Amino acid sequence: MNTSTKSKGKVYLVGAGPGDLGLVTLRAKECIEGADAIVYDHLANPEMLSWARDDSEIIYAGKEAGEPSLSQEEINALLIEKARAGKDVVRLKGGDPFVFGRGAEEAKAIVDAGIEFEIVPGITSAIAGPAYAGIPVTHRAENSHVTFFTGHEYPAKTESAIDYAALAKLGGTQVMLMGVERLGAVTREMLKQGVREDLPVALIRWATTGRQETLTGTIQDIAQRATAGGFKAPAVAVFGNVVSLRENLNWYENQALSGKRIVVTRTRKQASALSNKLRALGAQVVELPTIRIEPPTNLREFAKLVQDAHIYDWIVFTSANGVEAFFEMFFKLYNDAREIGAARIAVIGPATAQRVKDFHLHVDLQPEEFVAEAVVKEFRKQGGIENLRILVVRAEKARDVLPKELSALGAIVDEAFAYRTVAETRDTGARRQLLEEGADLITFTSSSTVENFLALGLPWPKGMQVASIGPITSKTARDHGLKVDIEAGRHDIDGLVEAIRNFFSGKNAENS
Ligand code: SAH
Repeated sequence: MNTSTKSKGKVYLVGAGPGDLGLVTLRAKECIEGADAIVYDHLANPEMLSWARDDSEIIYAGKEAGEPSLSQEEINALLIEKARAGKDVVRLKGGDPFVFGRGAEEAKAIVDAGIEFEIVPGITSAIAGPAYAGIPVTHRAENSHVTFFTGHEYPAKTESAIDYAALAKLGGTQVMLMGVERLGAVTREMLKQGVREDLPVALIRWATTGRQETLTGTIQDIAQRATAGGFKAPAVAVFGNVVSLRENLNWYENQALSGKRIVVTRTRKQASALSNKLRALGAQVVELPTIRIEPPTNLREFAKLVQDAHIYDWIVFTSANGVEAFFEMFFKLYNDAREIGAARIAVIGPATAQRVKDFHLHVDLQPEEFVAEAVVKEFRKQGGIENLRILVVRAEKARDVLPKELSALGAIVDEAFAYRTVAETRDTGARRQLLEEGADLITFTSSSTVENFLALGLPWPKGMQVASIGPITSKTARDHGLKVDIEAGRHDIDGLVEAIRNFFSGKNAENS
């Protein structure tokens, strides 16, 4: 979307889905990717903001129950102001924008201001919440209609618009959004209108996220149970016989990492590989990128070494980022892959090997253990490298074990600084999320993630444990006074995920 050529932008009222990142529509993702400005709510999962362009303006509009950051009028005015400034604005709202979310009010204000708009429906928590608790909102043996109602009505209304007598008579499945704190009054009213006392009820809070919790009971006791258990918003309540189907259908809360909140500190671009694997095991992931990859300080010097790549006997890549930077430069300089000459290729770990293979090149040497020392050992095993020319492609300010030891073995080593790791300064709400909600575990996938996380100076959430990808990262963590609770046996993402899984499954076994 191009701001320079437009006098007026468009507003997209976009449903952000109930929380799980996988439940966002393709259209929503497209809108976020193209937006010049994004105004998002408390219930919209902030992780989808990582799809935004780097220059997109990101504004938190709050709206937690009871404490609005911006009033509705201010939000409307903001959307109009941004669109008038020629920006395409995405208004991200939890669930579906037209289901109890004031989406209609915002749309009306936008229309009145003569601004173009589009509605992107989302998956509503009213259906997805029960589904993630193993409760189908319909079942042909149990009901033939579903009702959605709100437990928290428009404050200006003097009388309740909800006809509890009619609700009681109607039966079927009833889903209540908002107002868990008013559950006592709502259930009393329903009972008064003759709903049977043992009608099953479920409350699902933070549905479809790693924080999901479900409380079940009957219409008689659910309010009291919710109070006793400190069961707070946001939650959906389901009333009806379908609730009992959960007994067999509860799937989401029974996974290996269900209920665990895990922090991922890798770069925004790289985070998803780890995050998705953790999510697939039921974890709630907080992506808090602490580092970002930037071009090297001396790009010209790097270009010169890449240009001469064919004169080397070996090119050693120490990271996937290095491979990417190298070939980006290589194909700027050459149009022909054969220009790499007869250089053989060594890598430290499997992710790096995979990046090399993505360029259709063979990896000639890869050690069993994924640390620099193992590469040196492997070279030695292969009969030495005396007088061979080796190009080590690496990050600035990384460890220099590799160049040093290779030189010590008699090789002629050049170092190509392919990129620089710098602190990530952009925060899309993850830091606030970590402070407010804490976490069970933080993952470190390199020494720089440790250093840059600590440099943020955030208070350490109570009880947050540490998982590290391998001995070098663990040492950095320990040097900074952290206790490392989990260290991957295999020093890559799959190894890390496996170690985390084993750690928590051991824990669960202990507790049971
Ligand atoms: N438009 C939203 C609803 C907004 S009203 C939608 O379609 O889902 C806000 C209410 O939605 C909350 O009070 C709660 O009842 C419900 N809600 C939204 N997200 C939820 C979630 N992840 N888990 C449980 N309830 C949720």
